[in-house]
Amino acid sequence: MSEKMRTLTEPFKIKMVEPLKMTTEAYRKEALEKAGYNPFLLRSDDVFIDLLTDSGTGAMSDKQWSGIMLGDESYAGARSWVHLEKVVKDLTGMEFILPTHQGRAAERILYSILGGSDKTFISNTHFDTTRANIEYTGAQAIDIVCREAEDVEADSPFKGNIDLEKLVQIIEEKGAENIAAVVMTVTNNSSGGQPVSMENMKAVRKICDKYHVMMVIDGCRIAENSFFVQQREANFSDKSCKEIAQEMLNLGDAFVMSAKKDGMVNMGGLLTVKDEALSVKCKNLLIISEGFTTYGGLSGRDMEALAIGLVEVFDEDYLNYRIKSTTYLGQKLKEKGIPVVWPIGGHAVYIDAKKLYNQIPVDQYPGQALVIDLYIQGGIRSVEVGSVMFGKYDSAGKLIPAANELVRLAIPRRVYTQSHIDYVLDIFDDILEMKDQKKGYEITYEPEFLRHFTANFKPIK
Ligand SMILES: *Cc1c(COP(=O)(O)O)cnc(C)c1O
Repeated sequence: MSEKMRTLTEPFKIKMVEPLKMTTEAYRKEALEKAGYNPFLLRSDDVFIDLLTDSGTGAMSDKQWSGIMLGDESYAGARSWVHLEKVVKDLTGMEFILPTHQGRAAERILYSILGGSDKTFISNTHFDTTRANIEYTGAQAIDIVCREAEDVEADSPFKGNIDLEKLVQIIEEKGAENIAAVVMTVTNNSSGGQPVSMENMKAVRKICDKYHVMMVIDGCRIAENSFFVQQREANFSDKSCKEIAQEMLNLGDAFVMSAKKDGMVNMGGLLTVKDEALSVKCKNLLIISEGFTTYGGLSGRDMEALAIGLVEVFDEDYLNYRIKSTTYLGQKLKEKGIPVVWPIGGHAVYIDAKKLYNQIPVDQYPGQALVIDLYIQGGIRSVEVGSVMFGKYDSAGKLIPAANELVRLAIPRRVYTQSHIDYVLDIFDDILEMKDQKKGYEITYEPEFLRHFTANFKPIK
């Protein structure tokens, strides 16, 4: 289509609609108070634009919904499994494919085999469920994201990369035989959805070959990452995103995927490995805990929809729209003077709430204050990624804050239109007007673990 700057348009039209409830500010204030000022405790019916997560919240296409009807529910060797296996083999180049009910099930199976108390895993950044599954086996999980990622506002194309020097250093220090695997998270979710370059992946492969260490790719956003490689890395502009993904996944010894992201389905996961002996161990655990090897906790219809989703996600028009739509939101916020993590990643925009609400001290949770204001002002649900999520207490009960006080706006796939995104931008105009009068929050209830999900808050007067 035309190269002129035009309104960003969705490369799809809408065949089925899901009504959204319009609410008033007074209604939302009451709903939030009842939810203890924690948007995780809201009913989704009371949310207008839900940017809590991009995980499992996407919209399926007409083809996928047709696939649901074609799903084969046979216990063993189902047609839908044969279809899914073929698509995943073609994408990964790996021989042994296992379906799981979501990403963390694939992680639990693989890492409980590779892990153990004397083992170390090294990653650009372990995602929370990855770290949890590794640490549960007694192993250690070390994050070594590249130096460029330290400055959240500095422009750099591949801030999801791993620090190669540190990688070699840690392998030598710990001894290669004690390294269970290098886990490359693509895109790097916990580091702002930032991409990883092919160059970095190839360098990791070389290091893993030299030391005989296994390389695992946690690739639940592999299609989004491929688009960034095509756009930003030399010598990839002529390749299709699918070809780039194939090249990258071929570098790994194993691949784990939460299909709730780039699988374009609401539930599902994958585990694929190259080594036959490892695949046998994985299959044993799969059968004990998830299901037989040709369904692994998924219905036939789920596998059918996933097989179609994994093809659709590599549509270049879709990926162009997907990444540009996320960038559009981030760029416009930046133009308004809202401090955002830069450059904008693939699936989400992160706002620096400590900078935006600089009058609110970190122990009064500026990120939570912004999350609350976005809901009351516009019915927008977002999530705090700061001291509510990662804060700890010292022995005197004083808060040890997180490194950053961020708020994440995650964009579900194919769900909201450009006018919804423009509405979100309008609400930020209101936030900017009121920001100097905003006050912080205190925690009135918190559980021992993962407090951000269920904590209650109260406004500080
Ligand atoms: C979502 C996610 C997972 C876990 O997947 P689930 O399907 O939620 O269990 C693992 N790794 C990364 C990078 C993720 O984003």
